[in-house]
Amino acid sequence: MARRITIFGATGSIGENTVDLLTRQGGADAYDVVALSGGRNVARLAEQARALRADLAVTAYPDCYDDLKAALAGSGVEAAAGAGALAEAADRPADWIMSAIVGAAGLVPGMRALKHGTTLALANKESLVTAGPLLLATAEAHGARILPVDSEHSAIFQALVGEEIEAVERIIVTASGGAFRDWPIEALKNATPEQASSHPNWAMGQRITVDSASMFNKALELIETKEYFGIDPSRIEAVVHPESLIHALVGFRDGAIMAHVGPPDMRHAIGYALNWPARRDLPVARLDLAQIGQLNFRPACENRWPALRLAREVMQAGGLSGAAFNAAKEAALDAFLARRIGFTQMAEVVEGVLGQLSGDSLLTNSPDSLEKVLETDHLAREAAAEIVRGLE
Ligand code: NDP
Ligand code: MG
Repeated sequence: MARRITIFGATGSIGENTVDLLTRQGGADAYDVVALSGGRNVARLAEQARALRADLAVTAYPDCYDDLKAALAGSGVEAAAGAGALAEAADRPADWIMSAIVGAAGLVPGMRALKHGTTLALANKESLVTAGPLLLATAEAHGARILPVDSEHSAIFQALVGEEIEAVERIIVTASGGAFRDWPIEALKNATPEQASSHPNWAMGQRITVDSASMFNKALELIETKEYFGIDPSRIEAVVHPESLIHALVGFRDGAIMAHVGPPDMRHAIGYALNWPARRDLPVARLDLAQIGQLNFRPACENRWPALRLAREVMQAGGLSGAAFNAAKEAALDAFLARRIGFTQMAEVVEGVLGQLSGDSLLTNSPDSLEKVLETDHLAREAAAEIVRGLE
């Protein structure tokens, strides 16, 4: 029987790369594509659904339903819209599900899919940051598997093949440093959304690209590392590596360090999760090390990137602080993209929200139910909106 595949966030950067790999590996003839989801880009969603002969295409937005239905006319693909339809898509039996919706919106469909014992390829880092313990417990309770897709976590996962987690002394996550790594710190406050939206090495969605410039992306990834691998925060480090060729390193108790090296192309990590535990040919560039010549590293300075300091506080605090951190970050990013606050004020907003909510002891509870996580997300967005109004 062909492997049944669902992709949440098919029209995004990760989603498109996933569709590309499926197509190269035989497309509709090799896979049974159950469902594809997208947001506003219904023309592209319909195109993908037709090409992969999906059973179902879902737009997250009810007001996009008519357009999606029209674009699918005569294709035999069923159209659906809204949060309920996304959850229903997650209930449809599938062997491998890609979670690549951007933001906290990706949590619910992923959680739902895990309850059916599927393999979840997890690009949506926000799921682990907001609800790591809940996600892992749900996977365990239902015999489901989570495979990391974020490049750093795929790299760590690969470096750990055949190793005992007890033998790990440290995990080092690399960061390109984003668009502003060489800017003077004083200039950062005037950085514009356009300037923050270009990445030196990776082609990604706009939100994660801006998060790379502010290092909120790396902050999320440090928390993601703690949650996924169950490593004490004191053993997790970040280092700036401008070439983005080493994606992460794992140091062992005997002093050895295993580094994962590869081109900055997400199709490697996606393909690894798709074909795991096998490795198959992937259309990524092969590195010419003599041509590259040298690899550079610099400290990840918390003065320049306060998001990294906040991530440490969140990892120490645990509980619901990851949910608050992520929601405050999403709200601050929206405000920056709308030019309501400056680039460096994003960290001020997040710090303000964490201070406010931890003052009420709201964040010490464990994220052991979806309701608690969503409630914290809501409170953090409200607190962030208030702080943003004060800064305008
Ligand atoms: P994009 O912005 O490119 O794509 C996001 C996808 O989610 C699109 O399909 C979009 O639909 C859909 N979408 C947007 N908002 C919603 C919503 N509220 N509800 C449901 N669907 C929605 O994001 P990326 O592909 O860059 O990132 C996806 C996830 O993967 C993120 O969590 C990111 O952090 C993570 N990731 C991404 C990497 C990358 O290289 N891009 C690397 C590592 C992790 P539409 O476009 O049709 O509106
Ligand atoms: Mg990453």
